[in-house]
This record gives sequence, structure tokens and C-alpha cells, in this order.
Amino acid sequence: MLALPAALLLFATPTAADATRLAKSQSWEELYLAWASVEAKGFGKKDAQAIGKALAKGCQALLGDDAVMAYGLGEKSAAFSPTAEGLYCWGLAARRTEQRESAETAFRDGMKRFPRDGRFPLELGRLLADEGDSSGAAAALRAVPAKSKEAKEAQALLQKSRPPNAEEVASADLPPLPAGKPEAPRRVGGPPPPRAPPPSGLSGLGYESSVDGEGRRVRQNAYFRFLYFNAQRDFGQRADYEGSVQAALEEARTASRRLMGVAREQPVDVILYSREEFRLHHGPQAAMAIAGFYSESAIRMNDSAEITPRTQVTLVHEYVHAVMDELVSFNGGALPTWMHEGLAEYVEWRYQGQDRPTLDQAKALGSLARQKKLPSVAGMSRGPLIGMRDPALAYALAGCAVKWMVQKAGMPAVIELIRDAGQGTPFPKAFARHMGKELSALDEELSSDLATF
Ligand SMILES: [Zn+2]
Repeated sequence: MLALPAALLLFATPTAADATRLAKSQSWEELYLAWASVEAKGFGKKDAQAIGKALAKGCQALLGDDAVMAYGLGEKSAAFSPTAEGLYCWGLAARRTEQRESAETAFRDGMKRFPRDGRFPLELGRLLADEGDSSGAAAALRAVPAKSKEAKEAQALLQKSRPPNAEEVASADLPPLPAGKPEAPRRVGGPPPPRAPPPSGLSGLGYESSVDGEGRRVRQNAYFRFLYFNAQRDFGQRADYEGSVQAALEEARTASRRLMGVAREQPVDVILYSREEFRLHHGPQAAMAIAGFYSESAIRMNDSAEITPRTQVTLVHEYVHAVMDELVSFNGGALPTWMHEGLAEYVEWRYQGQDRPTLDQAKALGSLARQKKLPSVAGMSRGPLIGMRDPALAYALAGCAVKWMVQKAGMPAVIELIRDAGQGTPFPKAFARHMGKELSALDEELSSDLATF
């Protein structure tokens, strides 16, 4: 079935009938683009319900393949008409895209509106358990109605989350949640996508074109797999841009190998977005400033941003996330946030020939350290660093923590630590094993190091 081109719908206010029709033809991307910037107010109740229902369907359909778009659809669906399916899907998509505040909002709203539905308290319990909030998790899990389908699982989680001793509470290392559930701590994580091995004969830098299982054109070499976010776009339209992205990513790959001793073994997916798509997904600010970022197992590139020396540095940082994701076997919860961001940050500095953050940041950290006011690195273990009061300083501090590790034990030991944690060794244990020091020593030693700056 032919759907209306997205651009047409973008400039006219869509109707409830449009929403129903697009959902029926499973034109999820058009549905998303049509409603992304439409406010719910002004629609009558019946229309709002039909639109909410269509958007919830889109969210469910895309949850497995494109959590970012599913999130947009789920959030919009809840704004039009909060249904159990829409709220639940929004919450799950929020988990997969690491937007924990939204996830909590969706699950709590679901509990309030649909008190007999056990899925909401169960997922809220998982979310809180994953963050180490065992009492919050227990309260949520106890709210799962005894007669619901989820009751048994909630009971099992309640048993499991009861830590055997106080030490484990302190380190917040809850047992891993059942496999197959989203539990990404930051942009790294989520389930690894089904990934075809590179076509035989692809061993180097040369690119080959093919068509993937969903009919999208794909260009791939041994290290990268390029595809367009919009399946209708094709290679050749932006050949110059693709060429510069390929060169920039190749640069990031060699930098990673040089500075960390490792790079990706499997090719990394690189998804190319147009300016409009990037703006809709990531906001106008990002569309102007960000060349790309790593999320849900893919580097997502904004084709309106130029590859400049500054954006090249960012791509090195994002590529490091892709490497780490593979090092932990796509086990997103294996490492604390500060470790993910700190290593990416540290490699970024080294790539620029430095071994510290900017002079201003170094001074600010030094002054905090002397006043004994440095935030605890261990406290930055869950949730995005951008959620902290001064995000840039939090990244700088995380980078300093990794620098401390590299100085103590060397980069190969840091890489081994990451692999070890990915294989299931609790992070504090892996840290002690490879660093020769307890994790609890980190904050204090780092603080006295920084105080001398
Ligand atoms: Zn990062």
C-alpha cells in the first residue's frame, strides 16, 4: 500500500482518520513524523482516543527494532489518551532509551490508572531494583496484584532482591534481572540487534552494497555497516557526506586501536539521519550541534552536521562506546556509568594529545577536591551523567577516574576489567582483581590526586 510521503503530512495538521489509516497500513515512520510536533489539546475526546490508540500500536510495533521511535510514539500516545497498552509501551521504550524519569512516570501513571494491571508495578520494581533501590523495588513488587499474571514473577524477584548481607546493599549489586528485559543504564546497552555477519570476502576497507532483510540498502565493509534511517533514501544521494562520515569513523577506529589497543570486532551499524529526522528525534539543539552519537548498538549520524575537528573528537568518543559495548558482550548493566563515560572521555583527551580535561575543568575539580567537596565517582554508577548538576564536570571527573586507573594498572588491565565485568563478575570485584585496589579507595585517592592541581 502506498502511504502519503511524510513531508506532505508534516505540513498539514493530521486528523484522527489519518492516524487510523497509517496504523492500519503499518506506516509507522509516517505516523511518527505526522504526529511528532502536534499538540493533543484541541482534539475532541473521541478523536484523541483514536489517535492515542493508533500511536500506541506504532509504539508496540517498533519497540523491538527502534526504541527511539517507539518512545516518541508511546509518549505522544499517552499525551493524547493514556491507555494501558500505550503507557506500558512508553515505559518500556523509555527504559530501552535510558530515559529513566519517563519510565518511572509511565509506570507510576499506569499503576494509578490501571490498578489491576500487574505489569506496571512489576516493571517499576525492575527499574528500581536495577538502580539499587531495593526498598523502593520491594514496595513496587508488593503492589503487584495477587491475582494478576505477574504475581509469580514479582514474588520471585522479591525473593531474589533480598540481599544476603549489608555489604551487598552498599555496593548496590543486585543480581541481574531476567534476560530479555530492557535494562540499559545509559546510552550503551539494550539488547544487541540481530546482526548478520559481514558478507564473505569483506575483509578490509572496501565497501559492498546489499539489501537487508527489511529491504533497506546497506553498504558494509569489515568495520562498519551503513544504512539510512528512512528506507526510501538511497546511497548516492549524499555521496559526499557518506564519504566524509566513512573517513571520520575510520579515523575513530584507528584511534581506538592505537589508544586502547582494541577496536570493534563485529562491524558497527551506522544509521544516517536527515536533518529533519535528527531534529524530530533528538531536538533542535542536537540537530545543530551534534554530528552523531552511539545508542542502542548503533552510531546515529546527523547528516546536516559537518565533520569538523570538534565533531571528529565526538565521534572518537562515540566509537569508544561501541567498542565497550562489545567488550561487555552487550551486557549493558555490567559497568557503572562513570566507567562508560570516563573511558570515552579519557580516550577523547588522548586523541587530542592531552591527558586531562580543559584547564578550567581541571581547576574546578582541583578546587572541589581541596574543599573535600568532590562528588563521589561511585555515586555516578547509574543513570546518565547529563542528569547531574554540572554534566561537563561530571564527565571530566569520570575521565580523571579512568586516567587514575590507567596510571595505576595500565590500559590493558582496564580493558581486561571491562571484559571480566561483561562476563558477569560484579564490578567491585572485577575492579579489585584488575586494579589491585578496592573500589572504595578510588574516591579518596582520586581526590588527593586532584587536590594537587
Ligand atoms: Zn558518552
